Amino acid sequence: MVPKLNLVQAKSILIKSGLPGADYVINPYNGCLFGCMYCYAAQIARWKHPTEEWGSYLDVKTNAPELLKKELTNLEKRLKNKNFGSIFFSSVTDPYVGMEAKYQLTRKCLEVLADFGYEGNISIQTKSPLVTKDIDVLKKLKDVTVGFTVTTLDDKVSRFLEVKAPPVSSRIEALKKLFKEGIDTYAFIGPILPYFVNSEEKINQLLDKLQQVGVKEVWFEHINLSPRIKARLFAFLKKESPELIPPFETADSEEYREKLEKIIRQAMKGRSLKMGLGKIIYHRKPRRSKLINFLGKKQIVSLPLIKNTGDRNHLL
Ligand code: SF4
Repeated sequence: MVPKLNLVQAKSILIKSGLPGADYVINPYNGCLFGCMYCYAAQIARWKHPTEEWGSYLDVKTNAPELLKKELTNLEKRLKNKNFGSIFFSSVTDPYVGMEAKYQLTRKCLEVLADFGYEGNISIQTKSPLVTKDIDVLKKLKDVTVGFTVTTLDDKVSRFLEVKAPPVSSRIEALKKLFKEGIDTYAFIGPILPYFVNSEEKINQLLDKLQQVGVKEVWFEHINLSPRIKARLFAFLKKESPELIPPFETADSEEYREKLEKIIRQAMKGRSLKMGLGKIIYHRKPRRSKLINFLGKKQIVSLPLIKNTGDRNHLL
């Protein structure tokens, strides 16, 4: 499928945020061509593209850098300083979605922040090693952190659920490179994948690898199976691997989360790793369920053969 690109003019770019740990967000794009099957942004962004499939379109905010420059200047005049709090890239897109290689809007926004002399923390979260192309700009920023979403160490699993995102092995390599270049990094383990990464062994393997590549902080997030996210994800699982539905269904229970949290806290003990926000994030009110038998007790689920996903331009 050829993605639909829309060149648009944004009205504002530095947006006040309600996200934990972020005062402002910058989304140089709207939509995301990585098309992860568990994506929450798909629900947030749908009001702009109600009939289009998530992962099939991208709004490119071509005026983002100029707009940012103006908004930073205005805020500085109002607040009389160059630190308005933490700025997060991005909440409804991946700032290094493949088209960034062409439009360079994230890079240009970072350049604007560097030229402005922004003094607050800038945090970038991505699934793409494309961010390493901007190490030169990152080094000009006063306080920057780059995070990678790492939900598994298995490329086959990442390709299955994070359909067109760069494979997780390339993200691990990028974390290593950033660390070597002296850039602070973190890993976002979210959603914590039911069935694939919910045992003591798997969590420890993941943390061991992240520490090996210099990660100092890890964020955890439970899977969010709110009705719309669940409908999209389960329709996909039903088609591709129906045997995964029961273990994923089971993950939507308080008992499951409690048990998983114990495993995570145990795995974090004795490690020089900070836990982001000091807790395992969960966005929904718990629903109680008696189905807890899938946690840590595996049944064999075979993934479908990796399909040719067509658009591979985000893989550098
Ligand atoms: S990379 Fe992030 S924004 Fe893009 S589809 Fe995946 S979860 Fe959603």
